[in-house]
Amino acid sequence: MKIERNKSGLLSKLLHLFLPDVCVVCERELLEGEVGACLSCLYKLPKTNNYKEKDNRAEILMAGRIPFERIACYCAYSSGGILPPLIHNLKYYHKKEIGLLLGRMFGEDLADSDFIKPVDMIVPVPLHPKKKKSRGYNQAEIIAQGISESTSLPLSTDNLVRVVHNPTQTKRTKTERWGNVKGIFEVVDKQIYEQKHILLVDDVITTGSTIEACGTALQKCSNLKISIATIGEVF
Ligand SMILES: [Zn+2]
Repeated sequence: MKIERNKSGLLSKLLHLFLPDVCVVCERELLEGEVGACLSCLYKLPKTNNYKEKDNRAEILMAGRIPFERIACYCAYSSGGILPPLIHNLKYYHKKEIGLLLGRMFGEDLADSDFIKPVDMIVPVPLHPKKKKSRGYNQAEIIAQGISESTSLPLSTDNLVRVVHNPTQTKRTKTERWGNVKGIFEVVDKQIYEQKHILLVDDVITTGSTIEACGTALQKCSNLKISIATIGEVF
């Protein structure tokens, strides 16, 4: 069995050498300089620009659940749209470069905006170490890295941690999910985030329960302000 797996791994690596990279959205062959998706698909991304809009839909979704300053979502995540295949490839097909690209693009929009000006540091929503090990990376961290590159804000990746490993949430109801995520995040050294305005970063926001659970853990740091940024909004 081991030999078979090695064979197929080698074969796939060899094929990659000869087959051109294609856009994960439209499957057109990528041109030099294009990464993950072609420029034509990236141009069609349904940007919300909601970082300019107070009381946007994400802010209404999270109102009263955790104290926050602002929330920005880069694009609408609609089925059949441009964003779902990008996020899917980032999460399940090791296409880290897509996360970095989306983060950089979002960061370029946010740079010098009133949204980003008061922010001191960027904190990605953490994965449990077991999940991070099996995936090889944390997709929220890759996106955060891209935002950090475009905004020159420092990144803090090891102070907010996920302490409970729980199964996939996709088939649970909103109430069940909340019960499922409560108390699963912790801040290691609260002093690091005291008096700071942090930008919490995730790939997508759906019910907001993961963001809420992170916010609950972060609130234990005194005088901390939270803003939130995600690549997709699913509502
Ligand atoms: Zn394309």
